[in-house]
Order: sequence, then C-alpha cells, then structure tokens
Amino acid sequence: MASELIVETFPSEHSRYQLSQDFKTQFPSLYSIVGLSRRWDPGTILKACFYGGSEAVNRRISTVAKLWLDGVNLSFDFIDDDGKLRDCNVPDVEKESQIRIGFSCRGSWALLGTEATDPTIGSAPTCAAPAQTVNLSKVQVANVNESSFNRDVLHELGHVLGFYHEHMRCDAEYDSAEMVSWLKQNLNMTEEEIGRQFYLPSQASDRYGSAIAMSDKIDTKSIEFYSMPAIFFKRREASPCYVSPLPVTLSDQDRAAAQKAYPFDAAQIVALRDELKQGLEAIQLQITSSVAAIALADSIFSGRLSAEIRSDGMAETQQPQDSSTNLKLDDVRAVQNRTLADLRAAEALLKTRLGR
Ligand SMILES: [Zn+2]
Repeated sequence: MASELIVETFPSEHSRYQLSQDFKTQFPSLYSIVGLSRRWDPGTILKACFYGGSEAVNRRISTVAKLWLDGVNLSFDFIDDDGKLRDCNVPDVEKESQIRIGFSCRGSWALLGTEATDPTIGSAPTCAAPAQTVNLSKVQVANVNESSFNRDVLHELGHVLGFYHEHMRCDAEYDSAEMVSWLKQNLNMTEEEIGRQFYLPSQASDRYGSAIAMSDKIDTKSIEFYSMPAIFFKRREASPCYVSPLPVTLSDQDRAAAQKAYPFDAAQIVALRDELKQGLEAIQLQITSSVAAIALADSIFSGRLSAEIRSDGMAETQQPQDSSTNLKLDDVRAVQNRTLADLRAAEALLKTRLGR
C-alpha cells in the first residue's frame, strides 16, 4: 500500500544543510569530499548515551546497533565505568558522547556521521533535548515487532556511520512530477524536504556518502533503501527501484560498505586522509579563483556606473534610470557570494577534520 511509505522527518529548523544546492551542483567532486569528511576517523570509539527510554529497550538498541560493526574499524561504547548505560541527561555525559539518542522528537532521524560534533550545525529545537543526534520515535512502544525495531535502529545507525539514503540513487528512475505531487498531498512535504530525502546532491552521485555508492549497483536490499509506491517511478512496478517490503536487515553490500569506509589496513587509512587533504587543496584553489571573480565583477560594476554618471551627469547618489542591468549584476554577485561562503564553510569543515 502506497500510504505505508514512512519518510523520516527532520526538524525543519535544523540548519544541517549549510551548503547550498548551487554548491552541490557546481562542485560535485568537492561535495563528495565534504561527504567523505562526514565519516569518522577509522578506529574511533563513539560514546553513546540515551535521553530516557526503558533500560531493557535501550540495551536492545545497543545490541542491534552493533550489528553494523562486524569487521568494521569503529566502536560504539554505550556503557559507563560503572557498567550502566550512559545517561545523556547528565551534562558531562551529554558533552562527551558523540551519539545522543532520544525518543521524544517527531519521527525517526539521525545526523550524518561527524555532523554530530559539528558546532556549526544547529540544534533541533523541536526536541525536548536540543543536543540530540538520533531520534527513534517507534522503538519504545510496548510489543513493537522485531523487524520494525531492527529496521528503525539499523537504518538510523547507518546515518551515524555517515551513510545517505540508498534510494537517492534511483533519481533517474523517478517520475518526478507524480512523486512530488504524491508526497506533497499525502505527507505534506515541502519541495525542499523532498529534495533532501529523495534526491542525490548531484547527478554525479556522492560516492563517499552513500553506502551503496561503494559499488556501481543500486542495492535495493540496503537498510538505507525506502520502499516506495510504484507511482514514483516512470516504469512503475517494472522499475528496479520498486521494491516491497522494506528491508529490515543489513544487506551484504551494507556490511561491505561499512568495512570499506572504516578499514583496519594502515595504507587504506592513510589514503582516506590523503583524499581529504587533496579535497582541502582543491577547495582552497576554488576560493582563490572565486575571490578573483568577485573582484573582477566589482571593477566592471563600478566602471559601468561611473561611465553612466559621466554621460548622464547624474549625481552619484542617484539610481541609474535603467535598473535591469543592475538587477542582473546583483544576481551574479549574490550567486558569487553564496558560492564563496559555501567554499569557506567546506574549507572550515575539512580543516577541522584534518586537525588544522
Ligand atoms: Zn534515513
């Protein structure tokens, strides 16, 4: 049934998408590097805590979450020195924990990887605990069935590892007009929400962000795949992206992707870091040329204005009569400034990740 589609609801006030769509489209390869920087360093021990929830359910969450870690160079540490589950409501614990799980916000969602430690990312004001990084809205219910429980926990913990949605790679299959109108009508989603839940940041596909993107094949068995109504696809039921029911366990490709993302091999770890360094250098080059382009536009703009003043004899404070050229220039400058701001945000992020 189409209406069974469950879409994650992120707090709309959340400022997690700082990089503009322009940036993602204009610099897909740089955006991929930014995606890569959302992964934790291999070998990281992630401390995890809970805001409330029953002890038994929280223990079960910690067990299911660890299914991701088989052969993966990353650890989840749910237990404090006294052998108890960490309590996020203790301020020091909240501060030192990178995974902060709660149950009281709307829907289920998780921040992507290192977003959880990014001070530039806004809190979630709709939650009782704004510092929450994961929300599991369905698991604390009595008698929740096992597949639904596992699905919820594994899917969100995949985001914690830094993985995007696998179904985003289906965007060439989408019947976009039908899909967008269905989502607006049935789930009251805005186009912006639809964009970030269903579409890749760029056609080039973020090979670092997506679990599946570790291979060329779309993995419809991935825990990060949504089961979507046939009407979403141009080929309807014949589309390879039309699957039912929802995956409830990790696929082979999910496991392989996690192992590849968090290798034990020293040479592979160095290679991942080198890629980040090269990404930072590429972004810094773009910043230099972006600054030069803005300076050039400024000089053209001021040259044109003074020419007009000379020929029309207008005072400098007066508006030129033909404002259409001005509007276009303003548009260009706005895009240039936005691009530069994006590049600087990406630079700051990579510098933090590289400890510079
Ligand atoms: Zn998700």
